[in-house]
Amino acid sequence: MGAENERTGEAMAHRVAEDLRITVEDRQRRLEAHQAAIRACTACVAAGFIPESRPVFRGHTGQRIMVVGQAPAEHREENPIPYSGASGRTLRRWLAQAGFPEDALHERCYLTSLTKCFPGPSRSGKGDRAPSAREIALCRPHLEGEIALVQPEVILALGRLASTYFVGNRPLAQLVGQSFTHGTAVVVPLPHPSGVSHWLNVPAHRALLDRALALLDAIRRERGL
Ligand code: SF4
Repeated sequence: MGAENERTGEAMAHRVAEDLRITVEDRQRRLEAHQAAIRACTACVAAGFIPESRPVFRGHTGQRIMVVGQAPAEHREENPIPYSGASGRTLRRWLAQAGFPEDALHERCYLTSLTKCFPGPSRSGKGDRAPSAREIALCRPHLEGEIALVQPEVILALGRLASTYFVGNRPLAQLVGQSFTHGTAVVVPLPHPSGVSHWLNVPAHRALLDRALALLDAIRRERGL
């Protein structure tokens, strides 16, 4: 069942990626169909990873920045807004440091993650469980479909897992402060804004974050984002 879901998802991603010459209106219509398919996905439930699927993401075509996190926090409401809690406040502060206005996170950014459903708490009880490589693979066609249809110019990859997805498996300290490419998008790795991460407790890592936000500021000015 899991392999079948994966094959179906890959076929879906291939279909949306193969025709990038469609109009903006067509892209939005196809994105909405893709988002409906994500909302209906139960692949990780069928594979026994999570008890229920409640995919969380938000956005539309025309948003030139995509924020890709690890997985959503727990939400109980019907139409949850990603990054509406403490992580969102930190992320808004970082975007302000990069010269963006207060509302940029929820107005200018397509918000999504490697896996779209809350993975449950970690065994240690501190923070959420990191999704497994298998869960990331199951959800990959959804993310690649979003990227293919939204066509972001800039992807902000939050944390080690998201940065690894785009850039390869390297320590975050070797990635934050630099930019990379994924297709036509510029990828800017950032630490995860969750208060659970201790990465930013190291002064040298704070300096890397400052460098990453200065880089993002330069990209913003150059592209008029
Ligand atoms: S995390 Fe992704 S692949 Fe897994 S059930 Fe949710 S939407 Fe489907």
